[in-house]
Amino acid sequence: MYKASGRFKKTDYARRQLLLVDCDPKRPADTAASDVQKATAKLQVLAIREYLRTLEFPEPILCDSGNGYHLLYAVNEPNDERTELLVKNFLAGLSVKFSNEDSQVDAGNFEANRICKLYGSVARKGDDPSLWRRSAVLEVPTRNTELPAKGGHSRETVVDVDFEPIPRALLEAAVAELPVPRDTKMGEMTLDDIRKTDWLRKLCEVGQVEILNERRKGKYFVFDIVCPRAASHGSTTGDTSTIVSYERETGYGFKCLHGSCSSHNAVGGIKRFGDFRKEVDPKRLMSD
Ligand SMILES: [Zn+2]
Repeated sequence: MYKASGRFKKTDYARRQLLLVDCDPKRPADTAASDVQKATAKLQVLAIREYLRTLEFPEPILCDSGNGYHLLYAVNEPNDERTELLVKNFLAGLSVKFSNEDSQVDAGNFEANRICKLYGSVARKGDDPSLWRRSAVLEVPTRNTELPAKGGHSRETVVDVDFEPIPRALLEAAVAELPVPRDTKMGEMTLDDIRKTDWLRKLCEVGQVEILNERRKGKYFVFDIVCPRAASHGSTTGDTSTIVSYERETGYGFKCLHGSCSSHNAVGGIKRFGDFRKEVDPKRLMSD
């Protein structure tokens, strides 16, 4: 073990393997929970597990953190910004749906370098040792496999740990279902905004168009990109002068300030979004 201050940076991790849902009873800082307080966290953690079962999530490991409860879900995801945002939105959504005046779901455990208590160690918060409790793993999901009968012996049942990662699509579906205060890099977005900007991002990916920056101006969602005609512009200075955008209730846009793209006289210039789309996805791999 080492001190929390010496822990790794969130970028030091290649992948994400665990998603922690942490339920903690509300109480004054640096105090241990009473039994009554702790019981409210138990109700909450079980309600969350039940809710996620209805969304067909695989079973989590249930743990006693000493003062509250944890659900540990297996995931198998890259440790990148989009996944961090997905986990952040998931926890924020659970918190809005399940936090109450007695107990709260920690919405802050979304970064890859978050740590939690080593189960088996004692939680020693506050100065009343009678409330210090040992943390523990309470339930581990298992599956039974029946082995074929052999040599006159009766069938044998083998119990294995059944800890399957949540498919990413399920996690995304949960975020769509939950009342997530949608915190994205571009601020609060509706589900439709997210779909439309995802589509635009995918189009850029299909067309190998590099996105330099994503920003937001009210109902405009703007991607600064490298113009697909950048090579022929003969200029390396004005990278941010090319954008694709999505405007709520209006649609997609494209703008490049380079002369050969914006000139109305230029043959085969890219003036409108339709031209851009044709340029980067000539085979229309992206459907509408
Ligand atoms: Zn251009």
